[in-house]
Amino acid sequence: MVDWHKISLEKIARELETPKGYIRVSAPLEHDNIVNGDGLRAVLWTQGCPNHCPGCQNPETWDYEAGILRKIDDIKKELASFRGQAGLTFCGGEPFVQPEACKEIADFVRKELGWNVWSFSGFTYEIIMEHGGNALKFLKSLDALIDGPFILSQRDLSLRFRGSKNQRLLHLKYGTGEILSAE
Ligand code: SF4
Repeated sequence: MVDWHKISLEKIARELETPKGYIRVSAPLEHDNIVNGDGLRAVLWTQGCPNHCPGCQNPETWDYEAGILRKIDDIKKELASFRGQAGLTFCGGEPFVQPEACKEIADFVRKELGWNVWSFSGFTYEIIMEHGGNALKFLKSLDALIDGPFILSQRDLSLRFRGSKNQRLLHLKYGTGEILSAE
């Protein structure tokens, strides 16, 4: 029998390595996006995903060596130039395999721009909690997590910000990661 729990813990441990001060992204930064979280949002598309969900809409984001390596300082400057955004959402790829870089950017937009921070993940909240480390530090810097892999047989396009019924929109307490409410 396939042990998904063990496989997920092995996958989340496969962090994507980048030179210090860099993040690997799969697309240009977006702003004024209304489909990846509440309000007008900037979106950062990360590169690299070990989950390989059948039916994934962005398989070109799986490769750990594809995409573009960008300086985190340049990302911060570009985000700071966006006006009228409520927050930043990390999409993938899998943001939690670059947790240190994502946390640095999350902390910047919260402290310097006053934005809230959401992230998608193909890992569940419980797997991130159990793994700990940098992934958990990144989770604690969020206001909301949309968690779990995309499961084609559970696809439901009527869900807010989610593609399949197993995925949850978890509102989190900033600083601790405690779940405040779930949709
Ligand atoms: S976690 Fe997201 S990016 Fe990764 S394979 Fe699944 S749907 Fe695609």
